[in-house]
Amino acid sequence: MHLIDLIARKRDGGRIAPAEWHTFAAEYAAGRYPDYQVSALLMAIFFRGLDGEETYALMDAMLSSGGKLDFSHLGKPVIDKHSTGGVGDKVSIVLAPLVAACGIAVPMMSGRGLGHTGGTLDKLEAIPGFNTRLSMAEAKAQVERLGCALIGQTGEIAPADKKLYALRDATATVEVIPLIAASIMSKKLAEGLGGLVLDVKTGAGAFMPQLDRALLLAQTMVDIGERCGCPTVALMTCMDHPLGVACGNAVEIEESIEVLRGGGPADTREVTLSLGAEMLLLARVASTAAEARSLLGDALADGRGLEMLRKIVEAQGGDPRVVDDPQGVLPRAPEQALVVASHAGVVQRVEPRVLGRGIIALGGGRTTMEDEVDPSVGFRLLVHPGMHVTRGTPLASVLARDTAGLALGEACVREAVVIGDGDVAQPALISHRVSATGVQAL
Ligand code: URA
Repeated sequence: MHLIDLIARKRDGGRIAPAEWHTFAAEYAAGRYPDYQVSALLMAIFFRGLDGEETYALMDAMLSSGGKLDFSHLGKPVIDKHSTGGVGDKVSIVLAPLVAACGIAVPMMSGRGLGHTGGTLDKLEAIPGFNTRLSMAEAKAQVERLGCALIGQTGEIAPADKKLYALRDATATVEVIPLIAASIMSKKLAEGLGGLVLDVKTGAGAFMPQLDRALLLAQTMVDIGERCGCPTVALMTCMDHPLGVACGNAVEIEESIEVLRGGGPADTREVTLSLGAEMLLLARVASTAAEARSLLGDALADGRGLEMLRKIVEAQGGDPRVVDDPQGVLPRAPEQALVVASHAGVVQRVEPRVLGRGIIALGGGRTTMEDEVDPSVGFRLLVHPGMHVTRGTPLASVLARDTAGLALGEACVREAVVIGDGDVAQPALISHRVSATGVQAL
């Protein structure tokens, strides 16, 4: 097969057949197509799109380019969750151990920070010693033993997607719904799941801000999951402002532990419980959402979720004392300062993208794949939209490496927190549920 023929066909609005997608994914993963030709194909897809059949075939081809976990012998439901990402989104760190504590196997595969959004793997690596780079065999053994592993995509899982995604990132071809859906689902379906819950973010800080496009992404992924025999449900959740209080790596681990202790911010808790309830329903360990939430509430109240996190941290080489004394174990920023309101008013917006980019500028994220991440830096956000403030009300604390970082962080907080007059409408935290039966407004 000559790749130039596929490029020309897609450029002219034609279709690519399933067998051609399979050849493409296998050959590209094996390094037999040059990136300049694949970039041209990606740009043709960006402008011409893929129909449902092509999207499915590309997903299947990328999935088949690597290995697949098999948990069919386990005798337990195997369910995972994926989030399209945002700022302050630490839900996976709470949800995976909590759901595993309810008797469900959770082979959770997460990503690193991407653009302005934070990554679960970077957050977990704030725990001294924590190893997210498990092989497929190691992850499988840990899921069999403990019920949960928190890992990244290895070269064994959907390698064609791994290469293609890096190329999309470098060629401005990330924001294409069929490519995003095929990419996410090729990785998730390699986990050998019996069900998948998707957290599709919408709003200013989401990867796909407009609700209609985010809904289309959710529907595309739900269709792929269902077609593969993996029941899939998506919740559309709000990323108009950061989730919770903590934004950064170590601070988000601290906040996750607070939630597992039964506290933490109400929004983080609510999104976690709603996604967790969907996971328990897919696993059929609960038959109503109320029953599922009560099972999750029990695992929070009696500390089983927290104990599961301790076991996971220990199994993956991290310091398990983090669950008892997060502040003593996690890296601390040398400099901290409060930023206070310069005038009275009502908080109109808290811009997640500004804070997300602020974390990167403080050293807590990457601008190139080679950058080292400083886990200690970030923000603790003390206000949310709709809150009345007076002059001097604390808006956020900045955690920085040095005084230059404090100044930079303060400027970010002043730009991100917009104070004005008049009340503001609060968008719903969870607006829609998308499943095989359609879209339901909540
Ligand atoms: N995350 C992925 O894994 N793939 C995409 O294409 C976008 C986000």
